[in-house]
Amino acid sequence: MWFTDHMLFQYRRCHRRTYLDTYGDPTLKDPPSDYFVKLRQDSAEHRQTILDQFATLSRPTYERYDWETGAAATYRMMAEGVDAIHRGVLIAEGPDGTRYRTEPDLLIKQQGDSWLGDWYYVPYSVKFGKKPKPEYQLTAAFSAYLLAEIQGVWPETAWLFLKDKQYSVNLERYVPKLQEALDDCHEIMASATAPEVFISRNRCSLCPWLSHCYAEAKATKHLSLLPGVTLTRYPTLVDLGLTTVEALADISATRLTTALGTEHHISEKLIYQAQATAHGTAIPRLHTGYFPLEAYQVPTANIELYFDIEAAPDKDLIYLHGVLVVDSNKQQQSFHALVAEQPEEEEKAWFEFLSLVNSYPDAPIYHFCPYEAQTVARLGQLYGTNGTDISALLNRFVDIHKRVVDSVALPVESYALKHLARWMGFEWRDEDANGAQSICWYDDWLTTGDRTHLDTILRYNEDDCQATYRVKDWLVNFAQPFWQ
Ligand code: SF4
Repeated sequence: MWFTDHMLFQYRRCHRRTYLDTYGDPTLKDPPSDYFVKLRQDSAEHRQTILDQFATLSRPTYERYDWETGAAATYRMMAEGVDAIHRGVLIAEGPDGTRYRTEPDLLIKQQGDSWLGDWYYVPYSVKFGKKPKPEYQLTAAFSAYLLAEIQGVWPETAWLFLKDKQYSVNLERYVPKLQEALDDCHEIMASATAPEVFISRNRCSLCPWLSHCYAEAKATKHLSLLPGVTLTRYPTLVDLGLTTVEALADISATRLTTALGTEHHISEKLIYQAQATAHGTAIPRLHTGYFPLEAYQVPTANIELYFDIEAAPDKDLIYLHGVLVVDSNKQQQSFHALVAEQPEEEEKAWFEFLSLVNSYPDAPIYHFCPYEAQTVARLGQLYGTNGTDISALLNRFVDIHKRVVDSVALPVESYALKHLARWMGFEWRDEDANGAQSICWYDDWLTTGDRTHLDTILRYNEDDCQATYRVKDWLVNFAQPFWQ
């Protein structure tokens, strides 16, 4: 069996993924989302930009999947001392008949003694991320390890070409981690069953096994579907015998606090969450007294603004400020899309936004999560404010997500806007719309000029504003009696 850099990469993110990628039924995989395809394309472009910086690159030729021939061709190039090898194949023997294999983006020749002569090679990996994620460093250390097996000397480092910088991996630190990871992988792959499912939004959202794993988590009522049950907390809950929502709903907060080593209000929140899910009902947290009562109060006004931003992080661009104006006196609503139809119009859209919100100087501005407030502060610094006092503007911002999570436990799997608003009966007009998809639609608009893509983004953004409005109204109605 081959143990590859891809396997290690996935192992670092999810042990179950390592297993499923090898033994799972591929027909159960989800098709790649548009956003995933875009990330793959952007990553390939980034890789090409880096490779173009090298005047000469040698690449071993071999039939696809004929790794032995590829490794032999790579070795010949290394022995000849070529300066730079692109996608060379490195193979070494592992324990119990397993074999290790990797194809680093680049092997660059350096001066120094090795089995090859008075030169040796250092591995370089091109990664699209901005930060040296542990999975990047682990796979880079794997390349260094296989190189050491082949050339008889360790490179002093393994390099990462990241999005904005070059990063040197500390092999002294990462080689022991690599050994541990390889041992774990051997154990996982020798097992008769896949590692336990654990749904975690961050790591599962782009995984092709998500539908398959989610179905299993649903069928077994897995605790990972409960907000607040993290990968770190889960083993402790299992040790306490708390493997069901009902069991967690019944435990005392003091016992849980001691076991988890958290603050009391966090355990309490987890228990409220379990109770809300177990009973299928909303449970107020207002009476716990941890936060001052005012922190829970949601301001209301005759004219209210609901605000949502669309961004394209790959272009470092804010391309849409969507604002829903709700006038209760006149029983009127109007949606304003302040959009940068081209990336260079970001500044224009920003000032249009300022002009709109300044025309309702007393209206609270509701948004969901801190991103909108952070972005307004950033754009204010970037483009100036044309006389607008940004601190005063930000004082009108009300983060509805924070108000909800601080004041109530709901029977939902996540406190993302989609989950909350749907639980409250709201539906988006485009069922599959989401932030990642809107980034792809904006790209489609820029490349094709087809206005349908832009219109779809505006509709999605307006629905997000409407959903925030729904959640805010629900919260006001629900929490009002507890403020008395
Ligand atoms: S969906 Fe999540 S749990 Fe399942 S394999 Fe992927 S990352 Fe792992």
